[in-house]
Amino acid sequence: MSIVIVGAGLAGATAATELREQGYEGQVVLVGAEDHPPYERPPLSKGYLLGDDPFEKALVHPAQWYAHHEVDLRTGVTATALDTDAHVLTTSGGDITYERLLLATGAEPRVLDIAEDVGVPVSYLRTKEDSDALKAAFGKGRKVVVVGGGWIGLEAAAAARSAGSDVVLFEMDDLPLQRVLGPTVAETFADLHREHGVDLRLGAEVTAADLEGADVVVAGVGVKPRVELAHAAGLAVDDGVLVDARLRTSVPSVYAVGDIANHAHPRLGHRLRVEHWDTAAKQAKVAAHNLAGADEEYEEMPYFFTDQYDLGMEYVGHASADDEVVVHGSLEDREFRAYWMRDGDVVAAMHVNDWDASDVIKEAVESGELPEEP
Ligand code: FAD
Ligand code: NAP
Repeated sequence: MSIVIVGAGLAGATAATELREQGYEGQVVLVGAEDHPPYERPPLSKGYLLGDDPFEKALVHPAQWYAHHEVDLRTGVTATALDTDAHVLTTSGGDITYERLLLATGAEPRVLDIAEDVGVPVSYLRTKEDSDALKAAFGKGRKVVVVGGGWIGLEAAAAARSAGSDVVLFEMDDLPLQRVLGPTVAETFADLHREHGVDLRLGAEVTAADLEGADVVVAGVGVKPRVELAHAAGLAVDDGVLVDARLRTSVPSVYAVGDIANHAHPRLGHRLRVEHWDTAAKQAKVAAHNLAGADEEYEEMPYFFTDQYDLGMEYVGHASADDEVVVHGSLEDREFRAYWMRDGDVVAAMHVNDWDASDVIKEAVESGELPEEP
């Protein structure tokens, strides 16, 4: 039997790895549009962008791993069409037939709507090449304007400040990360960046005039799932490729995982498309089992992390900005645990700079019970 994986990012590479680790002996083809072996993106806005870590550290495996494990990795190859009746994937390198197929085409940056009116080119941050370009552009005295106070915007701002650039950051909302963390915790991130010298301009839409005189404009205004292939193939698509609890699309021989998958989460009881590292890797493992014949549901809670300056954070669960938040520890000192409560249950939790709390926050979300203040 042959399994074809479309998209050689973290999700695609993890699925190929899991197939081999679980003893699957059929053919595995991994098709990726980028010219590199699969790599992880978090370092692109952190250690790699800061110049602390080499690119090799971001690779999922050393390049030779794929041949050694009989994974037919085809880099620089784009999948252009999918015929789910004939079981044929058309690519820039020829047609490939499959018995089962995994879609892991990820996401791409949303384009800043005023980009065309701006005198300087607008940069995005998704690939190694994007990170290389920003690393070269950041530096002492460079004027960097960041648009978007989400994860990309804040991590890019931290890297630009660390390189000595002057940074202005525009966010439409009243606070960066407010939509994800709510006002109490989002304020911590605003303070962090102000204290590190970022000029935060909040609650206003950025205009082309605001960007005048910048050496670099970095836009981190969200991503959109890369669903063109799935859509053209007739798969059910609605803010991502719709998959059931077992990560199966509307066509039973095709699965989808990672940033593109809009998953019917069995524990949360609603659909969810998660754009984070942990979900891409863990969904890929479950999909690999199912591609090889198992019948597993994916039921992990979302988890993610960030590093900005000297702040490290982990978050688990799924809350909305208006859920009540209970804080243990000190917001001012940026060392705390936060628990988001709904109907008396903990639905999400995070810690900031309190690494003893990793298991505590996970257990709180698993049990729904608010832990005692330490
Ligand atoms: P992707 O990583 O997007 O990979 C998809 C791959 O498919 C790409 O290589 C693409 O070129 C390829 N592809 C697309 N279409 C085709 C096609 N038609 N044919 C062939 N190939 C195709 N998450 C966290 O939890 N913590 C972090 O700290 C964090 N930091 C991040 C920093 C940056 C700079 C970025 C960009 C993301 C970060 N994320 C982080 C998010 C995380 O990286 C993503 O959730 C994860 O990469 C999703 O993996 P994926 O494999 O689904 O998609
Ligand atoms: P994001 O987290 O969705 O944040 C986008 C931000 O830009 C939001 O705060 C949004 O505000 C704001 N925005 C949108 N349009 C704007 C405009 N015209 N002007 C000013 N602000 C605007 O997306 P991202 O930061 O671009 O990150 C891209 C992807 O990478 C996401 O999938 C993210 O999860 C992932 N990533 C994750 C991490 C991590 O987990 N640590 C790190 C880096 C990247 P509103 O909320 O008000 O719309």
